[in-house]
Amino acid sequence: MNQDGNSSKSRRQIHKVPPPVPPKKPRVNNDDGSGGSSQELSSSESVYSVPREKLLSCEDLTRLPVLYDDIVVECVFERYSSRQFYTWAGPTLVACNPCRPVPQLYTPTLIEHHHQQVKNGVDHRDAHVYSVAGVAHHRLTHHLGSVNQAVLVSGESGAGKTESARYMLGYLTHTETELQQMPKSPLRGVWRDKQPKDIQDKILASNPILEAFGNAATLRNHNSSRFGKLLRLQYGGCQLRGAEIDTYLLEKTRVTHQPERERNFHIFYQVVAGIKAGVLKNLAIIKEQNFAILPREVTSSDLQNLRVTLSAFRLLEFSENHQQQIFEILAALLQLGNISFIQGDKGNWNINEESVASQKAVCGLLGLSEDHLAESLTIHTISVNSAHKTSVFHKPLERVGQCTERRDAMMQLLYHRLFLHIVHYINAKISAHRTIWSHFIGILDVYGFETFERNSLEQLCINYANERLQQAFMLKYLSAEHQVMKEEGFLGVDIPYTDNSNCVLALDSKISVFTILNEECQLKRAVRESEACERVCKALEHTGMVSAPATPGHTAGFVIRHYAGPVKYDAQGLLHKNKDEVPLEVWGLLTESSCSFMRNVVENSESTDQEKGRRTTRKITTLSKFKSSLDLLMKTLQLCDLHYVRCIKPNAGTVTGVVEREYMLHQLKACGVIETVSISQAGYPVRISYEDFIMRYGHTRAGVDATTASIAVAKSVLSSPSSEEVATSLCRFGQTRIFLSESALYKLEEVRKEK
Ligand code: ATP
Ligand code: MG
Repeated sequence: MNQDGNSSKSRRQIHKVPPPVPPKKPRVNNDDGSGGSSQELSSSESVYSVPREKLLSCEDLTRLPVLYDDIVVECVFERYSSRQFYTWAGPTLVACNPCRPVPQLYTPTLIEHHHQQVKNGVDHRDAHVYSVAGVAHHRLTHHLGSVNQAVLVSGESGAGKTESARYMLGYLTHTETELQQMPKSPLRGVWRDKQPKDIQDKILASNPILEAFGNAATLRNHNSSRFGKLLRLQYGGCQLRGAEIDTYLLEKTRVTHQPERERNFHIFYQVVAGIKAGVLKNLAIIKEQNFAILPREVTSSDLQNLRVTLSAFRLLEFSENHQQQIFEILAALLQLGNISFIQGDKGNWNINEESVASQKAVCGLLGLSEDHLAESLTIHTISVNSAHKTSVFHKPLERVGQCTERRDAMMQLLYHRLFLHIVHYINAKISAHRTIWSHFIGILDVYGFETFERNSLEQLCINYANERLQQAFMLKYLSAEHQVMKEEGFLGVDIPYTDNSNCVLALDSKISVFTILNEECQLKRAVRESEACERVCKALEHTGMVSAPATPGHTAGFVIRHYAGPVKYDAQGLLHKNKDEVPLEVWGLLTESSCSFMRNVVENSESTDQEKGRRTTRKITTLSKFKSSLDLLMKTLQLCDLHYVRCIKPNAGTVTGVVEREYMLHQLKACGVIETVSISQAGYPVRISYEDFIMRYGHTRAGVDATTASIAVAKSVLSSPSSEEVATSLCRFGQTRIFLSESALYKLEEVRKEK
């Protein structure tokens, strides 16, 4: 089947190298592949042309006859134009976002088709995200390779990670249903009290809830995930028993600050739509009220989505009361955002008269005293320890900015904790007891490499995670390549690749960006962010991975040479975000609430001592928390067979019908696809069994086995006139297969044509 669901024989084919032709002018392609207005792109190297039909039928980029970045992107581009959205790059799947619904690509029939392909061990599987899920499932259920499996889905915002993850989950839950329906399945009957369909539905229901609370409309994606997620499907006896979700780095600042023309988290709009429509009640909000933290309009789809969220809540057994408590916190956050401040006679700051109604509402919803709330937002409490006692002093905050910072810190803490509470509750409902599952398939949907005009701590964390994932990919990929060669009986093949370990070390080792920024946060003195960045540059310049920005002064910060390109990180806000301190006044206020639900949400197991106002010797920073969770993730992944889906989008705005070639190339480079292809080309990209080889390039003769005959043919075509042996750069004879370089293949094809 091709990717529009039609039948096609196109498989990896052997191509010949065509002669060079002048570079083609890149096009901006229309959705129908007819081409559109022209757009000049810079072409860095000489370009070979490969006939379009060859590109279209090339399901694997590592099998392209010639390797130039332009041709790789040309292939992806041409396939995209003919609606072939998936292409292999060796073991990696490149998934291009169609930017429009293509339901015919995700039907139960296609699930079945891919399931059969994997089951029958078809050598050349159709490129599709179902195939990736299928292989992971097959390996797990047949105990091939490592027992645990993980699919890493990466790509820029809007590239299609979450959709790909959703389709894979659809495949895995569908396959599971099929398994259950098999009449003689030995696994039947295990689920006496928990029907398998029930657990699948629950796992699927976790998606709309997490998307409501963790996704928002951004300029690049109307449903952008503002957190990273690892979903582990737990299997016992080849059967899906449950699942567990880990989340990473929720963008909690969005609750209080939304970039221009972007929205807050979906759930807030759903709440307002629900109140307006009378679906949600008793939330101390009147229908006409406006909210400062909600830029952009509430739309009719927000109400529809609220209904989806509510039914997912019910499916996951959130009681009516529990749901009401969650909505009360959300309503309180909406009201908190409306609290503003006004200066009093003595220069101190008070809650503005106009927002007294909001203040009352917040206190009613969260079980707080009005005075305590006002005090916590406007007064600084200083405790001084002397030998015998601790004295507490109160000092009004001097600037309005300090008051709004307090309010924002309170809102961010509350929302983040609510999010974690929901994840925790869902996990309790969907995860199976440790005794009944033994292995898992993980689906990791995390932000891809990011580089913006201004990059801060969030980008530093995300890009660090991408470096670590890339490093793991390279190690696994290279060792798999070496293993194949070892099995085939030859060693010592040098595979050149970009080693990013120096960058990882510069970011995270004994003396590194992370340790220096963390040390700076431990100091008692006021934060001096630009000085900290200078320290980073000085200490790490010798690594060649870190440098000072070209234009110092107001652009203080540092530049890191990531594998996907250099990124400049701004000094401003870096240490403040790294400290991530919750004002003790806010902590004291929330934990003294009369609402036990809210107290439980806030005081969860993740609360650090410093947040609870206790004295600690070392502060736990954002970077150190993130590093620990990433270390844990990498440890988990080490136990897995890794599968990769690299998502690419055809244009920056995720607009239907526009393809920007240079932009696609940039993404293919950033996610390591170009590297994968070039590694594969460097180490014999063409691997043909002796039987296939002799069928194509020679004649089978009675009494001569395929191996001997193939070696003879290869030697006659590929050896130099002065020697009978074939250069190892051209070809290697393995135990079961013959390994060829592209130029060897070219020669063989030329000779074949002449015959
Ligand atoms: P972010 O990092 O912002 O969360 P993402 O990579 O998760 O981005 P998605 O939300 O998966 O991106 O996709 C963005 C949009 O692109 C989707 O809402 C959908 O409209 C479209 N899209 C992505 N993949 C597909 C697909 N396979 N078929 C059809 N449309 C798709
Ligand atoms: Mg997403």
